[in-house]
Amino acid sequence: MTRPVPAPHNAPAAEAAVLRLTGVTLHLGRDPQQVTALDAVDLTVDPGELVAVTGPSGSGKSSLLAVAGGLQTPTRGTVHVAGTDLSTLSERHRTAHRRRHIGYVFQHANLFGSLTAREQLLLTAHVAGRLDTAARRRADALLDAVGMSARAGHRPDQLSGGERQRIGLARALVLAPEILLVDEPTSALDRARARDIVDLLAQQTRAHHTATVMVTHDHEILDAADRVLTLRDGRLS
Ligand code: ADP
Ligand code: MG
Repeated sequence: MTRPVPAPHNAPAAEAAVLRLTGVTLHLGRDPQQVTALDAVDLTVDPGELVAVTGPSGSGKSSLLAVAGGLQTPTRGTVHVAGTDLSTLSERHRTAHRRRHIGYVFQHANLFGSLTAREQLLLTAHVAGRLDTAARRRADALLDAVGMSARAGHRPDQLSGGERQRIGLARALVLAPEILLVDEPTSALDRARARDIVDLLAQQTRAHHTATVMVTHDHEILDAADRVLTLRDGRLS
């Protein structure tokens, strides 16, 4: 890691328990093939906390993030994001609430094909109405922090899977969202890069009091987390 990443200019105010899942059960598919992806999950994440959730493939890790991020409605239970029960919001308000409070890093970066690496970060700030000098500086510092300064002008088809993954993470960090949900951030990275990325996540989580949930099956990065939870057949322990 080289120079420090400057703060976004409206860093979120600290507020207890920004993310709370209570008795969350998620059934997927239809009856004979129905799967219980999540089974009575309770999870509370406070600002400044990096929670790692590990578990084997198919244990419900991505489902947990989809429900926590309001992308999927649970079959039972409630999800509170920044003090609001998502089930009380209309779809339109839920989308707005999600955009305002949650940053999501998908396992496959979902980058825009026509934009350069740097433009992916600037677009995020622009859409939020926050593309100013400070945001540009922060974008450049984050590109540097994920080791992508030299590739800042490349489009996704000119980048490797691991490079796209690093851009996806840097993009999510631009706005320092109150809640950051990260799916397998090191799956395409070598050891040294994985370490840098997870250290950056931990450092940004603390610096900006973000409530970060990182799901992973990479046991070598778990030491960066404040808490490590395990999912097994949809049950969290
Ligand atoms: P993980 O991320 O830990 O690999 P997932 O959350 O993706 O696990 O999946 C949890 C379980 O739900 C798995 O058994 C998976 O096969 C199942 N599943 C995921 N998506 C669907 C779906 N659309 N329909 C039915 N089952 C699904
Ligand atoms: Mg998954």
